[in-house]
Amino acid sequence: MQREPISGRTRVLGVIGDPVEHSLSPLLHNHVLGKLGLDYRYLPFHVRSDLGGGVVAAMHTLGLSGLNVTIPHKQVVRDQLDLLSAEAEAVGAVNTVGWDASGNPMGHNTDVAGFEKSLEIRDLLGRLGGAAAVVLGAGGAARAVLYALARNGVSHVSVVNRTHSRAEELAGWFTYRFPNVGLSVIPLAETRDLANALSSAAIMVNVTPLGMAPGTGHSPLPNGVLPPEGAVVYDTIYTPEHTVLLKEAGQAGCVTVGGLDMLIIQGMESLEWWLGYEVGWKEMLDELRDLLNEALSKQ
Ligand code: NAP
Repeated sequence: MQREPISGRTRVLGVIGDPVEHSLSPLLHNHVLGKLGLDYRYLPFHVRSDLGGGVVAAMHTLGLSGLNVTIPHKQVVRDQLDLLSAEAEAVGAVNTVGWDASGNPMGHNTDVAGFEKSLEIRDLLGRLGGAAAVVLGAGGAARAVLYALARNGVSHVSVVNRTHSRAEELAGWFTYRFPNVGLSVIPLAETRDLANALSSAAIMVNVTPLGMAPGTGHSPLPNGVLPPEGAVVYDTIYTPEHTVLLKEAGQAGCVTVGGLDMLIIQGMESLEWWLGYEVGWKEMLDELRDLLNEALSKQ
């Protein structure tokens, strides 16, 4: 579809980060906005790490319609917002900022829906009820994954992390939010405990950068340690598309899911939240995967 030229009526969305050069969000959003024929543009804003404190006021001053927020600004932007969606409030992290019906700035978290819907479109969400899960990582994205797992009914989660204190902090938040879901903390180096937790897991999610480019030769799991055949192995990494973890899990008969769909869906969820209506991303998913994979192959 032919896009309207930029005019005084064009509305502006964007992403802030430091760095922001490698963000795929401008490509993704402008492609979809163009397809929908909307008079919006989505721009990358390089906001230096020490300058995130004025972001919401700047959005207001410049009349921006919405922003995605990435490293290292998630916490500082959250601190500037009084209004949060249920997901952002529960997870304690904001990756999307927009305006409520009265024009007040509001924070939202679409990583939760990105993870959840990437399972839903594969008919895997229903497997979570009463299941045991293993999550590698205890950072911001792990919080979103844990929240999605818990609200879809897992009965127990093992959080595996390198730094024990960070996993304990996450466990405190999780147990407060979900007192009926069992939780164990396992140090990443404790291979026997990790293997034991994996042996009864219906889903394992890697939410660490272990296996991500340029360190693509490694799996985050010790040699020969995997969940049972038929379990879901989910790697949130999307560079490369097929990580060592996913290759090994696939060979062992596990159901594998990579991180690209989570990336696309969290972006589309942001867009729908800003626009206030559905954009039909499911029908565009194959095209969006190709678009991003091609861009990633050139990075
Ligand atoms: P974060 O807050 O910085 O957390 C990073 C986590 O990875 C921590 O648990 C950290 O452990 C662990 N980690 C980092 N380097 C490690 C290493 N060398 N060895 C062992 N553990 C290590 O980052 P985040 O925002 O949660 O993101 C984590 C990853 O999730 C990203 O790298 C990305 O691959 C993926 N992600 C994907 C999507 C998507 O849309 N597909 C979205 C968000 C994130 P410590 O606590 O010990 O430092």
